[in-house]
Amino acid sequence: MAIERIVDTSVHDGDDNSSDEQQIEITLRPQTFADYVGQERLKKNLNLAIAAAKKRSEPIDHVLLYGPPGLGKTTMASVIANEMGANIRVTAGPAIERAGDLASILTNLADGDILFIDEIHRLSRAVEEVLYSAMEDFKLDIVIGKGPAARSVRLDLPKFTVIGATTRTGSLAAPLRDRFGHIYRLEFYQPTEISQIVTRAASILESQIDQASANLLSTRARLTPRIANRLLKRVRDYADVNGDGIIDTISTTKALEMMEVDELGLDPADRQLIASIVDNYGNNPVGLNTIAALTGDETSTIEDFYEPYLLQIGFIERTPRGRRVTPKAYDHIKRPYPKDIEQKSA
Ligand code: ADP
Repeated sequence: MAIERIVDTSVHDGDDNSSDEQQIEITLRPQTFADYVGQERLKKNLNLAIAAAKKRSEPIDHVLLYGPPGLGKTTMASVIANEMGANIRVTAGPAIERAGDLASILTNLADGDILFIDEIHRLSRAVEEVLYSAMEDFKLDIVIGKGPAARSVRLDLPKFTVIGATTRTGSLAAPLRDRFGHIYRLEFYQPTEISQIVTRAASILESQIDQASANLLSTRARLTPRIANRLLKRVRDYADVNGDGIIDTISTTKALEMMEVDELGLDPADRQLIASIVDNYGNNPVGLNTIAALTGDETSTIEDFYEPYLLQIGFIERTPRGRRVTPKAYDHIKRPYPKDIEQKSA
């Protein structure tokens, strides 16, 4: 079983704190564009699309949000629903096993409803096909009966909006991707934005935090709101237990040291990952499967949880022949960069 990591970007589940974590995520979730920090381009475009749709009294066109976990895709879906004054029905790719499951969800929607599908890249091909035709013309073709007696029936569906979230657009079938009128990538946040998110979360949680501590956390949170909130919670616990509950730079620094989260937001698992690539392959490109074998993780864990941030801070680079550790990463783990490297361009 994987060790629980403070800085991974998934919602922790399967542990005793999972419901606590989910509950806090819900409490901290911004409800409106005004509360949603950052992602300015996305907000500007969606604001316009929502205003136009409202003016025409129509639902907004289907929206696809993609990017690494924890950056606010689910949150944005609920903000859109809120701003539209629409009902939102939440589901996820792996939960819709058969075309019939999707048919029952779709036939239960009302005009203007939003259907949020998390991990939309994990829908089966059969379900994808039903979905994209429903998104196209709000009709549902279902086959009733089996064998020679089977017949096809076409049902009218309400005018709904799909908001899909995915960590990889590449895994989405082209016809499905093409049905989305809005496709947006969520970007990593600026440290100043993370600092605002921390300050806002602390005030909702009724904790006192000074600006310097919020700034300190903002440099350790991998530019990701979910991690920022999680670090805040841990630091708050530390300050409650070891002091008067006020979060200052001393308690923040001590709590971060205890969690072994370094000044770039990397934890022992990240440093271990880089060290094992360096020890086994030096600065040669390595494939995803090899990296996964080194750490004992699934390739999807490497792609979704480790890699995006390591790429963002320039610790690994993608080459046509695999991922390669950069001099910056060597520096960070205090290893000398091989001198005799020839600049191979594959
Ligand atoms: P994703 O769906 O991309 O994995 P979520 O929408 O679940 O990410 O966001 C994780 C948590 O981070 C949310 O509970 C929310 O509290 C916080 N969060 C995300 N984006 C923002 C934002 N732009 N401003 C403030 N808090 C945010």
